[in-house]
Amino acid sequence: MTAQLIDGKGIAQTIQEELTQEVAELKDKHGIVPGLATVLVGDNPASQTYVRMKRKRCAEIGIHSVGHALPADTGQEALESLVRGLNADPAIHGILVQLPLPGHLDEEAVLNAISLAKDVDGFHPVNIGRLAMKGRAPLFAPCTPAGIIELIDRTGVEIEGKEAVILGRSNIVGLPVSMLLLKRNATITICHSRTRDLPSVTRRADILIAAVGRAEMVKADWVKPGAVVIDVGINRVDDATRKRGYRLVGDVDFEVVKEVAGHITPVPGGVGPMTIAMLLRNTVTGAKRAAGLL
Ligand code: NAP
Repeated sequence: MTAQLIDGKGIAQTIQEELTQEVAELKDKHGIVPGLATVLVGDNPASQTYVRMKRKRCAEIGIHSVGHALPADTGQEALESLVRGLNADPAIHGILVQLPLPGHLDEEAVLNAISLAKDVDGFHPVNIGRLAMKGRAPLFAPCTPAGIIELIDRTGVEIEGKEAVILGRSNIVGLPVSMLLLKRNATITICHSRTRDLPSVTRRADILIAAVGRAEMVKADWVKPGAVVIDVGINRVDDATRKRGYRLVGDVDFEVVKEVAGHITPVPGGVGPMTIAMLLRNTVTGAKRAAGLL
C-alpha cells in the first residue's frame, strides 16, 4: 500500500474526547448541558439504527438527548407542531429530524420549520443558501460534508488552490461538500450521472470525493497519483463468507486505488464515524451560541 490511511474512526474518537471535555466545562463553569432532540417517523430499520447510535454517542459525551419516535402515519401538522415545541424548549439546542421521511410528508416544509439556531443537521434551506453564497456562512454546516473537510484537513494537505472533483450532487453530501470546498478556495468540478467520461475528469483531482452509492466504481486509473481520496459510499455486496451474508464497501475500489492515492479513507471506518462526531460538535456549538458564549 502506498497511500496513507485516513483513520476516520480514530479521528472521530479524538473529537469525541475533546467534546467530552468541553461539555464537562460548560456544565461546571456555566451550568449548561447541551441538548439534542431526535425525531424519527416510522420504522425504517436503518434510520432506527442511525438514531440509536447518535443518542448513544450523546450519552457518552454528556449531551442530554431526547428521542421522539412517531408512527409512520403521523400527519404533517403533528410533526411540524412537535418541531415548533422543540424550537421553544430552552433545554434543546439541536433538532435532528431523521431523513428520509415517509413519502406522504413534505420534507422541505418540516426542515423549514426547524429553528435556524437549532438546525444541527445543517439542512435548513437558509443554512444551505448561506453555505452557497459568497461572504456568508451557515450557522451549522451539514455533518457528513463537515466531517469530510475535517478528514482532509487532518492529512495536512492544503485545500486552497487544489483541483477538487466531487462525484455526486445530492443535497446531503455532494452539493454541500462542494460548497465547503469552494469556500476553502479549491477549484471544484461536480460530476453526476450525466457526466461524460468520468475517469478523464476524476484524474484531474488533487482531492477526489466519491459520493455516488455505486460499489467500488472508482478504479485505479481514475485517480491521479498522490491524490487525497475520500470515499463516502456505503454499499452492501453479497459475501457468503460473512455471517450476515454481505459486507460493506465504498464507492472506491480500495484495494487497487490505495496503490495510487496519497491518502485514502477506508469503508467502514472513514467518513461514517465523522458524521456523528460533527453532529455532536454542532450540538455543543448550538448550546454555546444560545448561552451567548460564541
Ligand atoms: P444519492 O442521493 O443517491 O446521490 C447519488 C449521486 O451520485 C447523484 O448525484 C447521482 O447523479 C450520482 N450518481 C449515481 N450514479 C452515478 C454514476 N454511475 N456516475 C456518476 N454519478 C452517479 O446519494 P447520497 O445520499 O449522496 O449518498 C451517496 C453514498 O454515500 C451512498 O452510498 C450513501 O449510503 C453514502 N452516505 C454515507 C454517509 C456517511 O456518513 N458515511 C452519509 C450519507 C451518505 P444524479 O444527480 O445525476 O442522479
